[in-house]
Amino acid sequence: MKINFNAGPAALPREVLAAAAEAIMDYEGSGISILSLAHRSAAFEAILNEAKKLTLDLLGLDDSYEVIWFQGGGRLQFEMIPMNFLAEGETAAYIDSGHWAADAMSNVARYGKLHVAGSSAVINYRSVPRILDIPQDAKYLHLTSNNTIYGTQCFDFPNTEVPIIADFSSELFSRRLDYSKFSMIYAVAQKNLGPAGVTLVVAKKDFIKNTVRPLADILSYKVMAAKNSLVNTAPVFPIYVSLLNLRYLASKGLAQIELENEEKAQLLYAFIDNSSFYRGIADKDSRSKMNVCFTIARPELEAELLQFAESHNITGIAGHRSTGGFRASLYNAISIEEVQELVKVLAAFEAGLKA
Ligand code: PMP
Repeated sequence: MKINFNAGPAALPREVLAAAAEAIMDYEGSGISILSLAHRSAAFEAILNEAKKLTLDLLGLDDSYEVIWFQGGGRLQFEMIPMNFLAEGETAAYIDSGHWAADAMSNVARYGKLHVAGSSAVINYRSVPRILDIPQDAKYLHLTSNNTIYGTQCFDFPNTEVPIIADFSSELFSRRLDYSKFSMIYAVAQKNLGPAGVTLVVAKKDFIKNTVRPLADILSYKVMAAKNSLVNTAPVFPIYVSLLNLRYLASKGLAQIELENEEKAQLLYAFIDNSSFYRGIADKDSRSKMNVCFTIARPELEAELLQFAESHNITGIAGHRSTGGFRASLYNAISIEEVQELVKVLAAFEAGLKA
């Protein structure tokens, strides 16, 4: 298989893929495929319950938090958040740290008032916003912990009484944190968790117990939690593959995962910093451990480098279509050896130019 540095849908551990492939043919000896498993069966309930337990264990949270699975990706969460929590006339604070943060903000006006608590748009999102202004009466503060497109990450989270809702899409389960400081976190699966098609929401029961307006069951955190994510036909397969990955992550433990992620990022950034050909994009104090974004001194060679990488078994390093350049996503499934291989190939390309 190629080494896949794509930002999402992204690489999954080989053992997860192998177990998923087996379950497609025969789910745990049941004689049916996981693709045909009834969403209201005891077997699927067991999958949901185990996934919930592993999620809370990994994040160090107790059962004052709900674990809910939604379809509709990040975009649906962007809409549901103000829909559920922001009444007309009320204010929500948002940190504008990148494209997805701004996309989340763009939904607020349909429900209430938007307060931009900080923005790094003027510096092209090269860092996370450093100066914040969070109104005390804001109903919630929304932030994006890792900005997939710009390769920046939040290392200091605001100290505020305002409930924090955080988009952890491109870094969930990548590091240890005090997750209890968040009222709600969410992550699309296709980056660091499982296949596309499902989004994991972890929310304080207390925070989601009320919605500010009448909503369809499928759009209500409260009802989806009460019905164990089973308002409609749940996406059984993406949830199952996420569970396989959760088992893999749990067997490693978050401390070990964090250590490896540190090492991988350090390896690649050190290589970039020592090269006069490759240049990191993000400010050093905001550099993401997950998405390493860089440019080359001779942009006319971008296509050539991409092709060179492909011919050396490396794929998915093109930057986002809005920024150009390059991006290597070092999610949990990427090993240190694979990052070493990427460095080797980048170095060989640079050496070839000098020769
Ligand atoms: N949030 C973040 C941090 C992202 O990187 C993305 C990109 N996929 C999204 C949200 C949007 O997710 P989706 O495409 O599932 O709507």
